[in-house]
Amino acid sequence: MHSGGWGEGGETTGALHTTVTRLTTLPLTALSDDEVLAAIREVERCARLLTSVQHRLLVEASERALPARLGAKSLKNFLMQTLRLAGADAGARVHQAAWVATFHDMAGYPVPPRLPHTAKALAEGEISADHARGIASVVNRVPRGATHQDREAAEQILAEFARSGSPDDIGRIGDRILAYLDPDGRLTTNTDRARMRGITLGRQRPDGMSPIRGEIDPVLRALLDPVLAKYARPGMCNPDDPAGPQVDADRADPAAPADATARDHRTPAQRNHDALKTLLHSGVIADRLGTHRGVPVATILTMKVDDLENASGVATTATGGTVPLRDALALAERSQPWLAVFDHAGMPLHLGRVKRLASPAQRLALIAALKGCSRPGCNAPASLCAVHHVLEYRRNGTTDVTNLTLACDSCHALIHDGPGGWKTKTEGPRSPYAGRTVWIAPQHIDPEGIPRINHRHRAGELLAETLLRIHAREEHARQGHRRWLRTHAPPAPTAA
Ligand SMILES: [Zn+2]
Repeated sequence: MHSGGWGEGGETTGALHTTVTRLTTLPLTALSDDEVLAAIREVERCARLLTSVQHRLLVEASERALPARLGAKSLKNFLMQTLRLAGADAGARVHQAAWVATFHDMAGYPVPPRLPHTAKALAEGEISADHARGIASVVNRVPRGATHQDREAAEQILAEFARSGSPDDIGRIGDRILAYLDPDGRLTTNTDRARMRGITLGRQRPDGMSPIRGEIDPVLRALLDPVLAKYARPGMCNPDDPAGPQVDADRADPAAPADATARDHRTPAQRNHDALKTLLHSGVIADRLGTHRGVPVATILTMKVDDLENASGVATTATGGTVPLRDALALAERSQPWLAVFDHAGMPLHLGRVKRLASPAQRLALIAALKGCSRPGCNAPASLCAVHHVLEYRRNGTTDVTNLTLACDSCHALIHDGPGGWKTKTEGPRSPYAGRTVWIAPQHIDPEGIPRINHRHRAGELLAETLLRIHAREEHARQGHRRWLRTHAPPAPTAA
C-alpha cells in the first residue's frame, strides 16, 4: 500500500518529529535578537500550519467513517478517545473543521470551505485557530436576509483583518460589520431590546457586598460611556488617594496628574465602581460634569448624511458604541449630546501655529471624522485618544485639522525616532484615503514597512471596498465565461 509521502513507517511525520525534538534542545544563547524574533515567528507559523494539517486528517478520518468503525459515536468522541482531549477542546476542533476544512461530495469532488478566505489564511500559517473561531462566530450571526456577496465580503474583511490583528478584536470589528449589514437591527428589534433591558441588584450578603448584573440598552450605554471615560480613568476618584482629583464640576477637565495615575492600582472594574459611587455621592448632575480632554462630558454622536436621509443605519458614539439612528435622534433633541453630521469631507478648521493644543472644535471634528485611534489595528475609541500632530509641532507641524489625528495614549507613546518606533504620515491627495493618517510599523513588526491605515472604526468603508473587489472579480469571471462561449460554442445556424 502506497501512502503518498506520509510514509507507511511515518517517514514525513517522523521527520517532523525529529526536527521538533531537535528544536527543544537546540541552544538559543548564540542567536542574535533578530534571529530570536525570526524563530518565534517561524515556530508560530508552523504551529498554525499544523492546525490546517489537523483539519485535513480530521476530514479524512470522518470521510472514511473511522470513528464509527472504531465504535465512537461521533467525531468529537473519536477525538476525545484517540487523543485524550477534553470535551470542549474536541468539540471546538470539530466545529472549526466544519467551517474551514475542505470536505468532499459523494462523487469525491472537493467542496469549498464555508469560510474560504479564513481557510486560505489558516493554510498559509498567517492566522491562528482563535482567529478562525472568532470569524466563524461573526459569520454565524450574519442575518439570514443578507446577500451572498455581503456574507462573503464580511468573511473576507475579517480574514484580512485577522492577518494583522488580534483574535480579541474580531468580535468587535464583526459587530461593526453586522451593524452595517443589518442597519435597522431587524434581527434584534427594539421590542427585543426592551425585553432584555434590566439591572438587578442582588441580595446583600452578610459581608455587606451586593452582586449587580443586567443588560443595558444602547441609549443608556451611550450616556454612561462618556461619564466613565472621564471619572473612571486611572487616577480619578480614587478613594485610596484623597489628594488625587475627585469629581469637580467647576474645574474644566481636572486631568489626573501623572503621579495620581501612577499611584492608582485599582482594576478597571474597581475604577468604574468608584466613579459611579463618587458621582452619586457628589450629587453632580449630567449638565454640570465639566469637560473630558477639553470636550464637554456629553454624548457625542456622529452619523452620515445619507443615513440620516434614509432614516436608517446607526450613529457612532465617541466611546465606540453604536446607537440605532432613531434613538440617536431622540437623544440629540436634548441639549446635552453633541451631534456631528458629516459627509466624510475634511473639516476646514485652520488654527495654524497660533497654539499647540488642539481646540475643542478640532477635537470634535477629529472625533467625528476618525471615531478612534488612527493606528492600524487599534480599537481605542475617540474618548481614550489624545490629539497627535502628524508632523510634530517642534518640526514646524501646524495645529491644523489636516495635520492632526487621534492616537490613544499607548499608541501615541509608540511614535518616536528611536529603535522600534512607529512613524506617521498623511496620505497624499491622490490616495483613495486622502488626508488620513498612515502608520509605518517598525522593522520587527513589519519588515517591509508598508504604510497602513486604520479601518477599524469604519467598517462601512472596508465593506464597500471589499464588495467592489468581489463585484469586479465576478464581472471578470462572467467575461471569461462569455469569451469561452464565443470560442467554444458551436456557431449559431443563422450565422452561415
Ligand atoms: Zn491606539
